[in-house]
Order: sequence, then C-alpha cells, then structure tokens
Amino acid sequence: MPAPPDTFHVMAKPAGARCNLACRYCFYLDKAALIAPGARFRMSDEVLVAYVRQHLAAQRGPEVIFAWQGGEPTLMGVDFFEQAVALQRRYAAGRTVQNAFQTNGLLLDDAWGAFLKRENFLVGLSLDGPPPLHDLYRVDKHGQPTFERVMGGLELLKKHDVEFNTLTVVHRESARQPLEVYRFLKAIGSGFLQFIPLVERLPGGISKSRGLDHAPPPTPALMRQR
Ligand code: SF4
Repeated sequence: MPAPPDTFHVMAKPAGARCNLACRYCFYLDKAALIAPGARFRMSDEVLVAYVRQHLAAQRGPEVIFAWQGGEPTLMGVDFFEQAVALQRRYAAGRTVQNAFQTNGLLLDDAWGAFLKRENFLVGLSLDGPPPLHDLYRVDKHGQPTFERVMGGLELLKKHDVEFNTLTVVHRESARQPLEVYRFLKAIGSGFLQFIPLVERLPGGISKSRGLDHAPPPTPALMRQR
C-alpha cells in the first residue's frame, strides 16, 4: 500500500449551506433540506477544536492548509475565525499554517479586512465578470444584482492589502465572451484566475436524486439553438 501523502486538502464549510445570496445556479442552497429540521447550520466550538486538532495531526508536511468555504463563511463572524487561528497556533507544533477563504464578498468590512490581513489569509472572491455577466446569476435573496456590492468587498480587500484571487463560474453567456471576462478580471487586479464550469442538473432535484444527477453535455446542434 502506498504511503499516505504528507499534505492533503480538506474543505471546511462551517456555515453549512447558509448563504446571504441566492445565486440562480447554486447547487448548494437546497442541501439545507438534507439537514434535520431545527438543526444548527453552524460549526460548534467543540467541532472546531476537534477539526483543527485532527487536521493538523493527520498531516506530516511542514505546511498545513485550511480551506474555508460555504455557503458563506463570513456569516460565522470574525470571532469564529479568530478562534480558529488561535487553535491553529496552539496545535501547529511549529508547522506553518495557511488559510484559504472563499467568499461572495458582500459582508466584508474593515474588521474583516484587518483580520484577513493580519492572519495572512488568501481570499478567493466569487466574481463572474463585468456586471451583465455577473448579475445574470449572482443575485441576492430578493433577486437583486450583487455586482456593486461585490466590488465594495473587493475595494475593502485592496484597502487592507489582503491577498486575493478570483473564482469565476463560466456559464452560457460568459463562455461567448471570454476576452471580456479575462480583461475585466485582469483590470480589477486579480493575479490568479480560477474558473469553474456551470453544470446543469436534471429536474427532480433533491427529492429524487438528492441533487446529484447532472444533465448530459448538450449536443453541438443544441448548442447552436441556444
Ligand atoms: S454565494 Fe455561493 S453558496 Fe451563496 S448562493 Fe451563491 S453560489 Fe450558492
């Protein structure tokens, strides 16, 4: 049996499926239906301690990465992550710890900016391109566009000199305008561009397939119709 790797990645979702947005393509919000009624969508202090200890203990390399995702992790508040980095220091045993943090950017404020900078978090900002492409799917719970508010979060990151990159969903419309998307992301100062394709799910959703069945890729003829 091969030896386990020195470093492996685990993605933690401390807010579960909770989010302050309702992106039209989100595959995750309806995961709330998989949780028992009344259950908490918040990583408890006990679980946080166990997670930090076990994640550090399981890895043998000199550097350990914690990746925080959502839902929306800023819903946990700065205090939760203050606690997380304090635990990392306590259990790191001399190793370097790095934190990666994926956010939609809407709740970022000066308190977040100061914390993210001080603790050297790498922030991934979810941004789908210029306004018409971003706002096509990335809307709030009232169906309102979010581009301007995401850009406010970006300015906050820049103000505090927080290291950031961008995560961009490639959908039907943006796939037709790759240069516009690329130039926009370069112009706002994203030094590392990440892209993920939007995948359609089969109708029926959670009750039939638990949200796991995806539509097959469209045929070239269907693509032309669209
Ligand atoms: S920000 Fe992420 S988790 Fe929240 S609705 Fe949009 S895609 Fe879903």
